[in-house]
Amino acid sequence: MARPKRFHKMIRIGPVEVGTYRDDRGREKHTAACTAPRCGFSTDYADRSAAELAARTHHCAP
Ligand SMILES: [Zn+2]
Repeated sequence: MARPKRFHKMIRIGPVEVGTYRDDRGREKHTAACTAPRCGFSTDYADRSAAELAARTHHCAP
């Protein structure tokens, strides 16, 4: 049974949302996910600053 990821500390930088969750082993992971239609950018990072940097520098593919 897959549990949905429970994000907290959600922020939005441009079209990209950054959230923190705990994985199955209880470690914090940080996801940057673009909300623009058809972009599909979504990546997990081990640190929050990396996720925020990715969000800040993300440009949607044309
Ligand atoms: Zn995008």
